[in-house]
Amino acid sequence: MSSKVAESTKRIVIVGGGTSGWMTAALMSQVMRSSEQSITVIEPPGPRGIGVGEASVISMVQLLKQLGADEVEMMQRCEATYKLGIRFCDWYEKGHDNWHPFGVCGARIDGRDLFPFWLADSKRFGTSEPYEAYSLQWAASNAGKAPHAFHCPSPIAQTQSYAFHFNAEALAGWLRDMALRNGVKEIAGAVQNAELAESGDVNAVTLFAGERVEGDLFVDCSGFQSVLMNKALGDPFESWNSYLLCDRAVAFKIPAEGSVPPYTKSHALSAGWAWHIPLASHLGLGYVYSSQFISDEAAWEELRQHAQLNPGAGQEPRFLKMRVGRQQSFWKRNVVAIGLSAGFLEPLESSGIHLSQVGIELLLKSFPSGRNADSLRDHYNQRMALIYDEVRDFVQMHYRLSRRTDSAFWIAAREAEISGDLKRRLNLYDEVGMLDNLQAEAFTETSYFHLLTGNKRLPRRAPALAASADPHMVHSILASIKAQNDQALRDLPPHEELLRRIHRIQLARAS
Ligand SMILES: Cc1cc2nc3c(=O)[nH]c(=O)nc-3n(C[C@H](O)[C@H](O)[C@H](O)COP(=O)(O)OP(=O)(O)OC[C@H]3O[C@@H](n4cnc5c(N)ncnc54)[C@H](O)[C@@H]3O)c2cc1C
Repeated sequence: MSSKVAESTKRIVIVGGGTSGWMTAALMSQVMRSSEQSITVIEPPGPRGIGVGEASVISMVQLLKQLGADEVEMMQRCEATYKLGIRFCDWYEKGHDNWHPFGVCGARIDGRDLFPFWLADSKRFGTSEPYEAYSLQWAASNAGKAPHAFHCPSPIAQTQSYAFHFNAEALAGWLRDMALRNGVKEIAGAVQNAELAESGDVNAVTLFAGERVEGDLFVDCSGFQSVLMNKALGDPFESWNSYLLCDRAVAFKIPAEGSVPPYTKSHALSAGWAWHIPLASHLGLGYVYSSQFISDEAAWEELRQHAQLNPGAGQEPRFLKMRVGRQQSFWKRNVVAIGLSAGFLEPLESSGIHLSQVGIELLLKSFPSGRNADSLRDHYNQRMALIYDEVRDFVQMHYRLSRRTDSAFWIAAREAEISGDLKRRLNLYDEVGMLDNLQAEAFTETSYFHLLTGNKRLPRRAPALAASADPHMVHSILASIKAQNDQALRDLPPHEELLRRIHRIQLARAS
């Protein structure tokens, strides 16, 4: 049924003040600065969002640019460190590491990824180094280097192919300050009910304290509660439990000790995996697991042993239940769901905040002017569904490629149902190393190549174009990439040196 967003979309009401709510408010208020729109965020008192020690993908650099924000200021406020990729330990089999470094791997050749040329070379001579060894981010991760020197350009900074570790609760607070400076209004309280018009649109929401807030467009950022999209509008939730088995997490933080690696570590455990997220003054640790295969108590015990905590150390675990899947609609009537209220999948590739960002950017591009919004809404829903499903497939591939047989969980996770798209994608790759029609932007074909080759899955042959390229030329390109990376690596400062500089500035300013 067709639905009109109010004659002109002037009053925007955002329900929920976690990372997604305040990111929506900050980005919208930045883009709509001079317009007539009013933006209101309704947030209950208490913690702002999850804040277990989170990480981003590279799109966060772009987010800072869109907000006109200073990277150093964000890092100081959010206890942030740099992230150049993810190291997966014991995923393929115990004792084996594979990597997902960010950015282009080495160089693009005739506009193409290095991968087919690397593949042709390794098929022909069998002597190439692993694909990941041509990535500057991989080399920098191993050498403990930062993506750039303080406020200086570098090959990694120029291509904006680095990311951050941070405290998401602090990030929400920092985004809130920015939004309030841009004129966003804040109401303290929680939404109890939504008042629906005859058309089915939401006219207003009522808070537990009784206040009624009217709006033209409502953005549901209420996290797993999904108070408008799921509860008020009754939009169905599609569970992904048959694809992804993990549905719980237990998390804690300890004071930082020792080195601060510029990458996230994901360590496979008996019924899931543990994250190690290095913050400026803490280490965030957590275990994402499947409640079908391990109890909460056993998961906490396994995480404690993994982290080598002694029993009397007194760490308080934080248990989280995860609603894994997505809403059927992302935009329904005059409600748009952003963040966890729209969907969620385990944070293996740190995709949560990126998906919120993508949702907000697409909403800004398709912002309704008041006329019939059906075509915008259809486009938004199709695009967001495609992006969410593709990220789910990418995350599921990590399990699919594992060879572990040492626990029932790993066998079940590998054999879980996969989507038709993922099947087609893997078949095409297996034949000729091609990946077709990727849409999600967060994970480019380079990310897939890292994951597949790192798990020892190689195509039967290289595509004709690369197989017929002059072998000497390919060989010399590979050698020159290594030489350029070595040079670039020498010019990058140690990660910890840059962090000391960034976080010492904060101390100096505070005193
Ligand atoms: C264990 C775990 C680890 C994660 N790690 C990462 C990571 O490394 N990287 C990443 O990108 N993402 C990660 N995520 C996801 C990330 O936390 C979220 O994507 C991000 O915090 C955005 O959340 P949100 O704002 O949508 O929801 P939330 O953070 O849950 O915020 C929802 C807000 O809505 C409010 N609210 C609820 N009900 C109402 C109501 N009735 N009225 C008004 N307000 C209401 C809540 O109080 C809260 O402030 C992780 C998630 C989990 C569970």
